[in-house]
Amino acid sequence: MTIPPNFRRFTRSHAYLARMLALICAMVLAILCAHNYDSDPSGFNIIWFANGILLAVLLLAPRWRWPGYLLAGFFGLLLGSWLIHESLSRNLFFNALNLIEVIIGAQLLRPKSTRLPQFTSIPYLLRFFAYACVCGPLIPAILNGIHNQATGYESFLSSALSWILSDLLGIASVTPAIVAILGSRRHKLPSLRLRWIYPALLLAVAVCVFSQSRFPLLFLTFPFLVLVLIQINIGWASACTLAIAAIGGWFTVHHSGPLALSGALQNKSRAALFQLYLSAQLFTLYAISIVFNNLNRVQKQLYRVAALHKLVTDTSRDVIILANLDGRRTYVSPGVTAVTGWSPEELIGHTYHDIVHPQDFAELEMAIRALKAGSDGGTLEYRVRKRDGDYLWAEASLRVYRDPANNQPLGYLNLVRDINERKLADEKLQAAYHAMENLVIVDALTGIANRRRFDEVLASEWRRNLREEASLSLLFIDVDRFKLYNDTYGHPRGDSCLRQIAESALDVLRRPADLVARYGGEEFAVILPRTDIHGASSIAEEICQAVRNRRLPHQHSDLGFVTISIGCATMVPRRGHAPHELVSRADQALYDAKAKGRNRVERFAGPYLRHQLPQHRPPSLDSSEDAVNAE
Ligand code: GH3
Ligand code: MG
Ligand code: MG
Repeated sequence: MTIPPNFRRFTRSHAYLARMLALICAMVLAILCAHNYDSDPSGFNIIWFANGILLAVLLLAPRWRWPGYLLAGFFGLLLGSWLIHESLSRNLFFNALNLIEVIIGAQLLRPKSTRLPQFTSIPYLLRFFAYACVCGPLIPAILNGIHNQATGYESFLSSALSWILSDLLGIASVTPAIVAILGSRRHKLPSLRLRWIYPALLLAVAVCVFSQSRFPLLFLTFPFLVLVLIQINIGWASACTLAIAAIGGWFTVHHSGPLALSGALQNKSRAALFQLYLSAQLFTLYAISIVFNNLNRVQKQLYRVAALHKLVTDTSRDVIILANLDGRRTYVSPGVTAVTGWSPEELIGHTYHDIVHPQDFAELEMAIRALKAGSDGGTLEYRVRKRDGDYLWAEASLRVYRDPANNQPLGYLNLVRDINERKLADEKLQAAYHAMENLVIVDALTGIANRRRFDEVLASEWRRNLREEASLSLLFIDVDRFKLYNDTYGHPRGDSCLRQIAESALDVLRRPADLVARYGGEEFAVILPRTDIHGASSIAEEICQAVRNRRLPHQHSDLGFVTISIGCATMVPRRGHAPHELVSRADQALYDAKAKGRNRVERFAGPYLRHQLPQHRPPSLDSSEDAVNAE
C-alpha cells in the first residue's frame, strides 16, 4: 500500500503535534491501566510506568522540545487522574512529583542534546539505573513520604519505599522498551519474522504461571525472558517484563497466582513481593545483557582481527608458513599459489623435503636445529621447486612461535619471499663484474700490466716476431726469499717492496714495446720483442742491479738487502710452436738461477740451446719447422 504524498507531507509537518497527542493518550492509558489492577484505594501501585514512557520520549527528543513534551505529559497525567476521579489537590500534587522525577532522570542522563540512549552499552545501563531508576524517584518519594506521614495516611518509610519501588520498576522496564520501539527507525532492529514466537511463548508461560494458585511456578518466566533477550534484544525483553507485570499484577491483585498461595499475606505484602519478583527479573535481564554485550564486543573485535589477518595473509606477496618443530607445515597462506603454483592444501602436512632443493637441505636443517636449540630466528636463502618443475630462489625468515601459557616453542613461522628476480639480477651483476674485471689490464698493487695483459701482449708479440722472424725474449723475475721478507717485515712492507721492484724494472726498460707485467704473487715477467738473448741477459742484469741499488733491507738475504733472481729465454717464433714454450723456458731458467744460489740471471739451457741456430730458415711463413733458439 502506498501512502499518498499529501498525507506524508501532513504527518511530517505535524509530527510534533501528533507525537504530543500520542503522549497524552499514553499517559492517560498508563494511569487507567495502573488503576485497573490496583486494589488499594490509597493509590499504591505495583508498577508505575507512566513516568518511564515520558522519560523515554525525552531521551529520544531534542532538548528544545522537552518543554512541549513535558507539558503534554503533565496534561495527560492530569487527565488520566481526573478520569479515575482523583481529587484535584492529590492530582496536582502527585503528578507534579511525577514530573519532577522525570525531569531529574532526563537531565542527569542526558546533559547534552547529542547523547542518545544506548541500552546496549554497559556504562549507559549503569548510569540509567543510577540516575533514572534511583536518583529520579528519590526526591518525589521523600516528598510523598512526608505528605503521607503528615496526612497520617501511611508511615514515611513505607510510602517512600513503595513509591521508589513502583517507579523504579516502571522506568527500568518501560523506558528501554519504548526507546527500542521508537528508536527502531534510527537503529536497525533484528527482524521479528519468526522471532515473535519467543515473546509469545513468554507471555503464554506468564499467563500459565499467574492464572493458577496451586503451584509456585514463578521461576518459569526467567528462561523464556532470557530467550527473548538473546534472540531479539533488551528493548523487547523489557517490553515483555512490562507485559508480565501487567499479567502478573492483574492476577495478583485479583487473588490468583503463586503470590496468592499464602493466604496469610496481605494485599500490600503480596504486591511488594510481586515488585521484588519483577525487580529480580529486571536485574537478571540487565546482568545477562551486560555479559552478552561484553561477549558481543569481544566477538566483534575477534572478527575484525580475524578479517584483518585474512586480508593480510591472502594479499601478502610473502608466503606465510606455520610449521611445527619437525618441519611439518600446519598452515600455508594462499599467496603460495601465485609464487610457486602449489596450492596450500598440497603443501600442508608435508615437510620441506618435498619442494626445497636437496642441495639446500643442510642449510635449512641447520637453521631449524638452531631454532630448536633456543635461537629466536634467522634468515636464509634456498631454492624452491615450483609446480612446473623449475626452481626459484626464496628468502626465508624463520621465527619461533611459542605457547603463551608456558613459553615453550610450538613451531616456527616462516615468511618466504620470492627473490628469484633479485638473484638473477645479482648473477647478471656478478657476470658483468667479471667481464669488467677481464677488461682491466693494470695490476692494482704495482700499477704495471697484469697477468691478463701479459698474456695478450705475449701472444701478439709472438705473432709479430713470427712475421718478422725476430727474436722474442722473456725474463722471469722472482724475489729471493720473499716469504721470509713478508714474515719478518709484514705484508704491507712486502707489498711496498713489490712496487719498488716493479719500478726498478720499469727504470731499466727503454723501448716502448718492452712490457713489465706482474705475473702473479711476487713474480714479474718482462717481454722484450726483437731482442736476442744477449740483449735480454744484459737487461736482466741491469734489473738485478737496479733492485740491489735500492738497498731494501732484508735480514735473511745473503747481502742484507732484497735481491732478485731472473730466468731469461729467447725464441724466434715458428709455426707449430706456441708462446707458452717461451714461458716455460724462462721459468726453467729462473729455476736454474734459484738453484745456483739466487741473486743472479740464468739463461735457458734446455735441449733447444744445444741445437744452435737452425740449418736453414723456412722459405715461407706457413712452414712448420721446429722453433729455434736465437742465442
Ligand atoms: P725464493 O727465494 O725461493 O723465491 O723464496 P721465496 O720465499 O721468495 O719463495 P716464493 O717465491 O715461493 O715466495 C712466495 C711468497 O711471496 C709467498 C708470499 O708470502 C709472497 N707473496 C706473493 N704475492 C705477494 C703479494 O702480492 N704481496 C706480498 N706482500 N707478498 C706476496
Ligand atoms: Mg716465487
Ligand atoms: Mg721468491
